[in-house]
Amino acid sequence: MYGSQREHASNPQQGYAARNGSPETETQFGLSLPSTPASLPSKPDLAFPARRKVIFVHGCFWHSHACKAGLIPKSNRDFSLPKLRQNKARDRKNLEALSLLGWDALVIWQCELKDGTA
Ligand SMILES: [Zn+2]
Repeated sequence: MYGSQREHASNPQQGYAARNGSPETETQFGLSLPSTPASLPSKPDLAFPARRKVIFVHGCFWHSHACKAGLIPKSNRDFSLPKLRQNKARDRKNLEALSLLGWDALVIWQCELKDGTA
């Protein structure tokens, strides 16, 4: 049993998929779900409009996670650094904008998903 709450979460399993790192999660990378409100200031990987919650699944490299996968190869710095800085600034802006609108945002890192399936 997942608990007694049966409100209007249209598909509660999406949330569990993200946490468990099941194959379903992978198909959602880079796709915007139909349930994502068009008015949001960004494109979360998962959105739960009834609860005003969104979840981002971030790739460690492109979003500069402080983990092994987030390291920048020396040979590629000229190309990567400006782009990574832009990504980081955009991430921060998105989260700020969402919280101003009253949305709760959760960031899940790709490396966390991998750990979860070990
Ligand atoms: Zn990571």
